[in-house]
Amino acid sequence: MFPHGLLTFNPVTLPPLIGHEGVRRRLAQAVAGGKLPQVMLLTGAAGVGKQRLALWLAQLALCQKPSQEPCGACRSCRLVSTLSHPDVHWFVPIPRPKVSDPDKQIEEAAQLLAQAMDERRTQPLYAESDGMASHGIATVRLLQRRATLTSVEGGRRVFILGEADRLVVQEASQEAANALLKLLEEPPSESLLILTTAEPRRLLPTIRSRAMALRVGRLSDREVWEFLEAHLRPIPPVEELDRRVTAAEGSIGRALGAGEDASKAQQAADQLLEAVLAGPGPSLELALRQPAWAARGEFTAMLDALAETLGEAARGALGQTPRRSMPAPLLRYRNPGPLLQAMEHVADAREAAGGNVNPQLLLAVLGAELAEAL
Ligand SMILES: [Zn+2]
Repeated sequence: MFPHGLLTFNPVTLPPLIGHEGVRRRLAQAVAGGKLPQVMLLTGAAGVGKQRLALWLAQLALCQKPSQEPCGACRSCRLVSTLSHPDVHWFVPIPRPKVSDPDKQIEEAAQLLAQAMDERRTQPLYAESDGMASHGIATVRLLQRRATLTSVEGGRRVFILGEADRLVVQEASQEAANALLKLLEEPPSESLLILTTAEPRRLLPTIRSRAMALRVGRLSDREVWEFLEAHLRPIPPVEELDRRVTAAEGSIGRALGAGEDASKAQQAADQLLEAVLAGPGPSLELALRQPAWAARGEFTAMLDALAETLGEAARGALGQTPRRSMPAPLLRYRNPGPLLQAMEHVADAREAAGGNVNPQLLLAVLGAELAEAL
């Protein structure tokens, strides 16, 4: 979960869909021409907005005054944007139901989903589902059951299955898998089924082959930047925004995840590099005598940040523009050799850190090695 205090949102409205203009245009043309495939699979890196795009498409397909974009003002648009349209069914991975009776399991799944939707309404910028959440057999049965209902608002019905690679029925239950395949093969009339996944290879080929795949690309750095600036409160300082945008590689999800912990790791890495570059002396000693690491994870995160910074400095030495800010002396290299050498030392330390070696000791050795290399 993202740190809560950081994100203040007007609850009950989805954040705007950012970017993906090309895909949006194609989808809008398909909607206008009545040529939208009934079963689609949106693929692309985690956090680029695939499920948000699916909701946008739901809005467009149900809009009462559609053009290139959903009008945003009609009853239908408003219901979708508050996640309360009775004909839009958004399935997200949920914990496994606790009851054992199959019918009760379906009810529990429905409740868990309703809870998840409540959370999305108050916290629309969500993290990837936790590792144990899935689309279980009960979810598939619920989907199947809802698919047989008639439209409440009289228009199309839209089913969105986010993180579809979490479909456990793929192996667990032949019956549920068959039910899903049948649904994908013969979707109810006037309905859309939109699956999203960052890992299409983890879907059964029989599922993949029944959907029209649509690739959702990465966002530009500018788009990620603008999104963070518009939605993070308080707005982080420019350096922090810069760091997050670089770490995000075009994914708003990653940019949001690159919060405080990552920032702490980066700061520690920058401090260490600055001290190393300043040469032997009290500040280097101080940097190497860093306070005890609260967790091994913090130490390895610092090493990762160190490696990334050195990597960016090496890009700079090769004449490319580094994608993050870094201690100024690192920008003066015209030959990447020493930086690559330093990266090797960090990689060695990273490997050793996986074992039972004392982080303080590792850091002392690494500091000396970096001082020699740089
Ligand atoms: Zn509308």
